[in-house]
Amino acid sequence: MGSGKSGKKNTPAGVADVGVVAEGVVDTDGAAWEYAPAPESRDIVTIAPEYGLFINGEFRPSAAGRTFATINPATGEPLAKVAEAGPADIDHAVAAARAAYENAWGPMPGSERAKYLFRIARVLQERSREFAVLESIDNGKPIRESRDVDIPLAAAHFFYYAGWADKLDHAGLGPAPRPLGVAAQVIPWNFPLLMAAWKLAPALAAGNTCVLKPAETTPLTALLLAEVCQQVGLPSGVVSVLTGAGETGAALVTHPDVDKIAFTGSTEVGKQIAASAAGTPKKLTLELGGKAANIVFDDAPVEQAVEGIVNGIFFNQGHVCCAGSRLLVQESVAEAVVDRLKHRLQTLRVGDPLDKNTDVGAINSRQQLDKITELTAAGEAEGAERWSPPCRLPDTGFWFPPTVFTGVSQSHRIAREEIFGPVLSVLTFRTPDEAVAKANNTPYGLSAGIWTDKGSRILWMAQRMRAGVVWANTYNRFDPTSPFGGYKESGYGREGGRHGLAAYVDV
Ligand code: NDP
Repeated sequence: MGSGKSGKKNTPAGVADVGVVAEGVVDTDGAAWEYAPAPESRDIVTIAPEYGLFINGEFRPSAAGRTFATINPATGEPLAKVAEAGPADIDHAVAAARAAYENAWGPMPGSERAKYLFRIARVLQERSREFAVLESIDNGKPIRESRDVDIPLAAAHFFYYAGWADKLDHAGLGPAPRPLGVAAQVIPWNFPLLMAAWKLAPALAAGNTCVLKPAETTPLTALLLAEVCQQVGLPSGVVSVLTGAGETGAALVTHPDVDKIAFTGSTEVGKQIAASAAGTPKKLTLELGGKAANIVFDDAPVEQAVEGIVNGIFFNQGHVCCAGSRLLVQESVAEAVVDRLKHRLQTLRVGDPLDKNTDVGAINSRQQLDKITELTAAGEAEGAERWSPPCRLPDTGFWFPPTVFTGVSQSHRIAREEIFGPVLSVLTFRTPDEAVAKANNTPYGLSAGIWTDKGSRILWMAQRMRAGVVWANTYNRFDPTSPFGGYKESGYGREGGRHGLAAYVDV
């Protein structure tokens, strides 16, 4: 995280006003320190004016000729026109996936499939800067994150699952696991390339073919990944990418020739998909929302915990399903922790996603900004106390300052609903039992964080958390070898690790 000490606004190219004004952070002469802009060059990326659908190994316009615009959330400017897939395109992609499954990918030995996955991983590494810049432009996330987290992890997923492709019989899933067939995969906008990797890598390793539907607001890196599929010579139809909105996603998952649905997104849409798949032979995994508790005990190292709190909720603008959006802090240290946190937040730099100094980028869409605005207004209306560091936001694009609510009670909407933005709700507890009760008092169950010096307490707490992932003295750590997924309204099934293969095979 940056240790910015900006006193004046900083104006890198393309962004009007950026920078958080850190009150009271001055040098010995009394003058405020400034960061020089450090923008990543956009030159490595070529954004075409128009993109087609990727079906059966080729880019083509949608059958109905419909398109939509993808925009740069940091400026509000349109980036490109993108084809919108309709029923005829979905039929085409699913038929191509079926043919590729039966004639090429399904019968191919695992050791041969692995070679393609290794090639994809290597090309992702070779072209990582191009992917990172494109991801930050289309999504609004800081280049520091796309460069250091999203793209390396996406490559790591392909590497990891490439290793399993010829060892499925030894994965402990049962004797002679078989692929399911054609997988329809619908992903959200918060980690566009990484979610594509989470979906495609295990499915392909297990011998399935895939039709991927990226989110409407972030189609560009999925389309670049399609180009990589061409580059590595992946047989036609093994991966298709159908861009479009919710309607395209709904038509894809209800297509009768789909064998498997993998969805990441909102609980609301997850429920609709589960209802549509009920009574069909389709297999389904759902990775949905969350409202995680990040729990800080009185013996936790405060500075380390504060970094974990910041990483837990301000990473990726809080657009993270497992974000630590509820801070549960032990009452005896609550004031000290919140003070340190506020001090730390004054050093976060909000602004141009392509500036290497930026900690918090743009909100992904107007719709998401409206949702965050509405929920934070509800927080104030219900009586919680709102705080943000002094912060000048750019004039154009979609922005929201890092925000902390104290005095939050469990009944407040900001303590119950997924905000999916840079907004932290602080609650307190007195005893470990109370921490467990409050942490689990949510319809979700995706993740949790525990901060304490005592190993025995970590184990005691972890056993009681109704959450698929529990981090101890860290937060938002991801690894392809580690399973990820939820309980309750956070969905079912696991992605990542050996468990992630189970979702794509029949035994
Ligand atoms: P959605 O669940 O609507 O979107 C996720 C994906 O599903 C997108 O590709 C979307 O397409 C597609 N989709 C939308 N409707 C359908 C449908 N009926 N059938 C099949 N696919 C569909 O999430 P939103 O983008 O609307 O975000 C809304 C809220 O969901 C956020 O505010 C956040 O709280 C939560 N969310 C949670 C995520 C998580 O990882 N847990 C990820 C994203 C959002 P399109 O983008 O074109 O609408």
